[in-house]
Amino acid sequence: MAENQIRTIGVLTSGGDAPGMNAAIRSATRRAVSKGIRVKGVLKGYEGLIKDELRDLGDRDVSEIIGRGGTILYSARCKEMLTEEGVLTAVETCRRHEIDGLVVIGGDGSFRGALELSRHGINTIGVPGTIDLDISCTDYTIGFDSAVNTAMRAVDQVRDTSTSHERVSIIEVMGRNAGYIALWSGLAVGAEDVLLPEKYDYDEEQIINQIIDTRRRGKKHHIIINAEGIGHSQAMAKRIEAATGIETRATILGYMQRGGSPTCQDRLYATVMGAKAVDLLAEGKTSRVVAYRQGEFTDLDFEEALKMEKTISEYEVDLVHSLSYSTSVR
Ligand code: ATP
Repeated sequence: MAENQIRTIGVLTSGGDAPGMNAAIRSATRRAVSKGIRVKGVLKGYEGLIKDELRDLGDRDVSEIIGRGGTILYSARCKEMLTEEGVLTAVETCRRHEIDGLVVIGGDGSFRGALELSRHGINTIGVPGTIDLDISCTDYTIGFDSAVNTAMRAVDQVRDTSTSHERVSIIEVMGRNAGYIALWSGLAVGAEDVLLPEKYDYDEEQIINQIIDTRRRGKKHHIIINAEGIGHSQAMAKRIEAATGIETRATILGYMQRGGSPTCQDRLYATVMGAKAVDLLAEGKTSRVVAYRQGEFTDLDFEEALKMEKTISEYEVDLVHSLSYSTSVR
């Protein structure tokens, strides 16, 4: 499709909300407007496409949102989109609103939805937006930097009181299937252990032995970062306290990690990615994901991107342990 053929684009946010999504909505909108393209904001992700909830977005509608967490377009997980009927309804809505291209800001699941739409002739571009950093094709996802910084600051605070009371602290951070927030915040606070969904072997005895060992070596606290995907932090704390005789507390950080003003990196990268998505549509491209790889913003084919696998860094996991005590990798 030639540049002048794109007249209207849609923008939606889907899956879990992430700080920086608003910066991407703003830049996509303003980039489009600067190219003479009309913008429709789709509310609540794919649900808005299926229920026909769209509103016009002009450059004024996205003012003063760059520093706000969440998403002004709202987000949702939409089961109907998993059905052929749902996809066809969404396609129909795009046609009715004369949407020539759709910018989908979300995670892997959202990209699968976008791929379905593109198979039905809707031009789609994905922008990686998830606090979990679990999109294989990109080294950066919108929201991760803000979320991991929030987690790090919270752990720092728990650590102060943990040290004062010479406790063991289990701090549960977000990440159902991915341990990046756990690993990064664990390394950033100097945690004694990180339990990652990708790696955890459920060997609690090893954790207990390590706690006894670090205490013997004079450490005043013992911080364990536990990823949400492993969960059960309260029960784990009780078992550890019973086995070690050391006061053990669990803190679940929860949704506070999703909220708040995005960091500089999230504002900047989301701004570039949102604009790039519009540029790709304007160039006539479709079925592509905007990515950040090896220090550069780039784009990849949807299907190719979705087939990629992400691995957690063995070296970084090993560092957590080797910097607090020498033992095998969990
Ligand atoms: P997060 O990383 O925050 O969980 P996500 O985009 O991966 O984000 P999902 O819940 O997996 O979150 O997907 C978001 C939405 O995308 C789903 O609710 C559904 O509407 C749509 N979706 C997911 N998978 C598919 C699929 N295979 N086909 C069509 N639509 C899909």
